[in-house]
Amino acid sequence: MLRRIDLRASGVPADPEALRAALPRAAFDVDAAVEAVRPICEDIAQHGIHALTKYAEQFDHVVPESFRVPAEALTQALADLDPQLRQAFEVSIERRRKVSEAELGERQVDVDVATGARVSQRMIPVNRVGLYVPGGVAPLASTVIMNVVPAQVAGVASLALASTPQAEFGGLPHPSILALCALLGVEEVYAVGGSQAVPMFAYGVPGLCPRVDMITGPGNIYTVAAKRLVKGLVGIDSEAGPTEIAVLADDTAVPAYVAADLISQSEHAPDAASVLITDSPELVAAVEDELERQVLPAKHAERIHASLTGQQSGAVLVDDLDAGIAVADAYAAEHLEIQTRDAAAVSTKITNAGAIFLGSWSPVSLGDYSAGSTHVLPTAGCACHSSGLNVKSYLKAVHVIDYDQQALAEIADGVVTFAEAEDLPAHGRAISVRQEGRG
Ligand code: NAD
Repeated sequence: MLRRIDLRASGVPADPEALRAALPRAAFDVDAAVEAVRPICEDIAQHGIHALTKYAEQFDHVVPESFRVPAEALTQALADLDPQLRQAFEVSIERRRKVSEAELGERQVDVDVATGARVSQRMIPVNRVGLYVPGGVAPLASTVIMNVVPAQVAGVASLALASTPQAEFGGLPHPSILALCALLGVEEVYAVGGSQAVPMFAYGVPGLCPRVDMITGPGNIYTVAAKRLVKGLVGIDSEAGPTEIAVLADDTAVPAYVAADLISQSEHAPDAASVLITDSPELVAAVEDELERQVLPAKHAERIHASLTGQQSGAVLVDDLDAGIAVADAYAAEHLEIQTRDAAAVSTKITNAGAIFLGSWSPVSLGDYSAGSTHVLPTAGCACHSSGLNVKSYLKAVHVIDYDQQALAEIADGVVTFAEAEDLPAHGRAISVRQEGRG
């Protein structure tokens, strides 16, 4: 089912570009999707609710009675929530909150660089954030937790959340998404799909939604493309697009587990990527057998099959584990599972991955829901420069500079010299004027 990319004979290319080119990646990428969503973003910026209505019809096949979800719908969804599901939500919230509180670190750090010369760093929350929760293919209630909990721990004052309207629920987002909003105290909720929600948040829609300062949350390729388009006007977290899993495995890996984990991420959508990286041809054969066994009876066999056989997925064969580590690092997977001898030691050699899952007992599905880690993670190679969504994503580091007269006098000559070297004498003058005692 998985296409083979055999790097044993040729060896792993030393040139990083050549290596990346040899690895599986989707053909339809964010660059291509940007051109599809550009007119949608412009339309929503100009025509607000009218344009939201048009695209709800086109993409979501239902126009909500009101794009703003009424408060009663949130309360009702929580009242109707199955108690067992509520318990699972609460455990997941508690664990994500525990890790988020640890991520927070110091709110202020003061450094006295010399006598009377202090530089402080204050971590200040973004004021207003728009959170996106996917609902086009499956209602990702877990993403409510992954967005809201760290934002609340960071201290974001104003949170708005959007998710796809569902025809089945009269144009409201899925009830489990609404129930979680109520459970977490999020009151401003919109029934708006991804490539519409992003411009709604970024530009604001008069009479509906005031603009935000930042947009976070995952989505399909169009949602991610819309985030890329509005980046700068607002802040965004990483480009958290179509899901990827890479499994770095040796002959100790359990084929049934490896196959189940590849399938679990392929279940997201036909464009999800599942990649096996191994030095064991026997493992590839055994995983193939397991895929044949496990895919057919799966509920979403069709999209799983499409994902596993797509050009974004594959099995990469390498000579040894070091070559596998080089491949995994070049691929920079959103989710990297390490199922090898001494997985913890192997993980220390990885520099590029959204999140790393060690051994047989930490599958990606655990991280999707209840591990305590984030599941909003960079895709398409962005893990080489971006982090998963966490408390710090919602905080701005602001330096506060506080020198007294003596401390400025002591550094003055150096600053003036520096300014002259840059041919910016007025910069130096702003220092020297203070040394002339004219204040
Ligand atoms: P979604 O909710 O983002 O997409 C639905 C929206 O996509 C629609 O409402 C519409 O706005 C837009 N859309 C659909 N077709 C379009 C088109 N032709 N042109 C423009 N816009 C269009 O997402 P989904 O479809 O439910 O898929 C969820 C995605 O989120 C999956 O790809 C999954 O892998 C991904 N995901 C990623 C992460 C991560 O952290 N990287 C986490 C969870 C889920």
